[in-house]
Amino acid sequence: MAVQRTFSIIKPDATKRNLTGAITAKLEEAGLRVVASKRIRLTLEQAQTFYAVHKDRPFFGELTEYMTSEPIVVQVLEGEDAIAKNREVMGATNPAEAAEGTIRKEFALSIGENSVHGSDGPDTAKEEIAYFFSGLEIVG
Ligand code: ADP
Repeated sequence: MAVQRTFSIIKPDATKRNLTGAITAKLEEAGLRVVASKRIRLTLEQAQTFYAVHKDRPFFGELTEYMTSEPIVVQVLEGEDAIAKNREVMGATNPAEAAEGTIRKEFALSIGENSVHGSDGPDTAKEEIAYFFSGLEIVG
């Protein structure tokens, strides 16, 4: 497997509880290198655009309000098989179902407030990175 880049968000529930460092440490321990990082506050419109794929789901309003409730930290992660590796270290969407040692098992509060986002495939990774970062901001 070649070196890949993926997109990660440390979500509002985690930045609020000062878990940015602890979560980043878990990502780095998994072999992922942080090649871009910034703390931002999403507008409702940006959250709705980012999660447009979920616009017809019953939790869309709750999700987009939550994503704007506190600052987030957006990151580009690089490494061998980075997309799958990040999904593995994140754990299942619902923390009650997440494996031991994963970020969501350790830190997530609920299926909604689940501490991290990670791209689910190469196309979304590319799209999500480009939505938040310019080429100049990514330093491998
Ligand atoms: P993942 O983030 O694991 O890729 P999804 O793409 O299915 O999961 O969902 C995106 C985000 O929407 C989740 O991370 C979570 O914050 C929120 N979400 C998903 N399902 C629910 C739900 N049933 N109730 C509330 N929020 C949800």
